Amino acid sequence: MSLGNYRCWLLAVALLAGALPGCRRGGDIRKASAPPGAPILLFGADGFEWSVALPMIRQGRLPTIASLMERGTCGLLTTMNPTSSPIIWTSVATGKTMDKHGINDFVYRTPSNPLELNLFTGGDRQTKAIWNIMTDYDRRVGVVGWWMTFPAEPINGVMVAQTNTIDQINTLYGQHIWKGSLRPGLKGQVYPPQRQKEMMQILLSCDRNLPTLTEEIFGTFKYPPSELTRRLWSNCQWAFRADATYIQIAERLIREENRPELLAVYMGGPDVIGHRYWRYMYPDLYEHRPTDQELEDYRDIITQYYAYTDACLARLLQAYGTEVTVILASDHGMIPLNTDEPFDPDNVPRQVNSAGHPGKLKPPGMIVLAGPRIRHTPLPKPVHQLQKDDLPVVCSIFDITPTILPLMGIPVGEDMDGQSVLQVIDPGWIKKCPVRTVGSHDTVAWLEARPKTKHQSLDKDVRLQQLRDLGYIE
Ligand SMILES: [Zn+2]
Repeated sequence: MSLGNYRCWLLAVALLAGALPGCRRGGDIRKASAPPGAPILLFGADGFEWSVALPMIRQGRLPTIASLMERGTCGLLTTMNPTSSPIIWTSVATGKTMDKHGINDFVYRTPSNPLELNLFTGGDRQTKAIWNIMTDYDRRVGVVGWWMTFPAEPINGVMVAQTNTIDQINTLYGQHIWKGSLRPGLKGQVYPPQRQKEMMQILLSCDRNLPTLTEEIFGTFKYPPSELTRRLWSNCQWAFRADATYIQIAERLIREENRPELLAVYMGGPDVIGHRYWRYMYPDLYEHRPTDQELEDYRDIITQYYAYTDACLARLLQAYGTEVTVILASDHGMIPLNTDEPFDPDNVPRQVNSAGHPGKLKPPGMIVLAGPRIRHTPLPKPVHQLQKDDLPVVCSIFDITPTILPLMGIPVGEDMDGQSVLQVIDPGWIKKCPVRTVGSHDTVAWLEARPKTKHQSLDKDVRLQQLRDLGYIE
C-alpha cells in the first residue's frame, strides 16, 4: 500500500472513529487515553545514515539495531529542507512544519539590529510538543537532550534540556558548535529544578571520564595529529560529552520507580563525527586523499561511534528490564561533500567538513520501530544481506508524533502535518484502540503563555532581561 493510500485509510479510520458512540472529538478527552502499556523509547540519533549502518550490520557490528530490524519495521525516513536540527527535531516532537511550530533556523536576527543574531530557544515554539500533550493526559514523560528544550518546561516527568548558548555561535572560521549540551552555571536546564544539581554532577563526571570513554570507543591514535586532525577531534569533544551525559541521565530515569512512559533521548555525535571524518572512511571519493597514516588512525572513527551508539541503545533497553517499544530515528542521512577541497593538514581550511546533508537533496534518515504494539514487517532479505536499495520509505519526520500518540491511546491533532502511519502499528492494537483525533491540542491559554520574543523589536534592556531570564547571563 502506498503512503497516499495509507493516508486515505487513516482518514477513513478517523472519520469512522468520530462517528462511533463513546469516541469524543475535542472537548474533555483528558481521561480518555488508554492505560499505560509498554514504555516507549524514542531514540534520536542525529545524522545516522543507512549507508554506514548497513555494511556494519552485515559485519555484525550493530547487533542491537539489527535485532530491532528483524522483529519490527524499518526503512527510510524522509526529511525536509532545510535539514537543520532545531527545525527537524522540533517537527519530530510536534508533528508540524516549521511555519506552525515557529523554529525556522538555529538563529534569528534582531529586527531592529539585523547584525545581531539570537538563538531560538524552546520558548519560541508556538505549538505543543509531545511532552506537553502527554502532560495534558496525565501520562509520564521524560525528555533528555532534545533540541529546543532550553529553558526546560514544566512537564509530567523530567526534562533535561539541550542548552544552546550564544557563545556557541561566536566562534571563529565558521566553526560553530551548533549542538548544545548541559552547561554548568546556568539556571533553568532541568525540570523539576531541584534535580538540576544531580544532572550537573553527571555532566561533570562524564567530563572527567571523557578521555577514558573516547579511548574505549576509538582506541589510541598511533600518530601525532596534524593541525587539521587536531581541529576535527576537538570539534567533536563537545558532542561526545553531551551524548555520554544524556545517555547516563536517560538510563537513570529508566531505572527509577516512576519511570517515564515515553522517554525521548537525543544523541548528536553521529552527525558531528560524520561531518568531520567522512573523508577518512571513503578516501577514494576525494581528490586529496588522506595519508596512509591518517587512514590508519581515522578510517574507522565513524563506524566506531556508530557501534558506540548501538551499545548506548542496548544499555537503555537493558535498563528497562522489560519489553519496550523502540523508535530509532535520524533527522536526515549524510552524503560526501567538498570532495575537491585540499584539506591541507597543516594549513587548516575554513571548511573542515567532508560530508553533510544539503537541504535541497533532503538525504533521508533512518527509522527502526520494534516492540509491543509495533507490526512485524518481514525484511525483503536476511538482515545481514540488506542493501540501502532494499529499504522502503516508511514515513516522514512529521509522522513520528502522530504515530506515537495512537500507540499511547492519545488522540492525534488534526492540525498536525504528519499522519499516523498505520502500517507500522500492530493491527491488533488499532482494533483495540482505534486512532482518535482532536481538532488541536493547543489551547488559547497555553499559546498566550508562550514567550513572543520573535519578530518583535525590543530595546536592549528588555533583551538583556530576557537573556537573564533564560540564564544566559547573570
Ligand atoms: Zn549535521
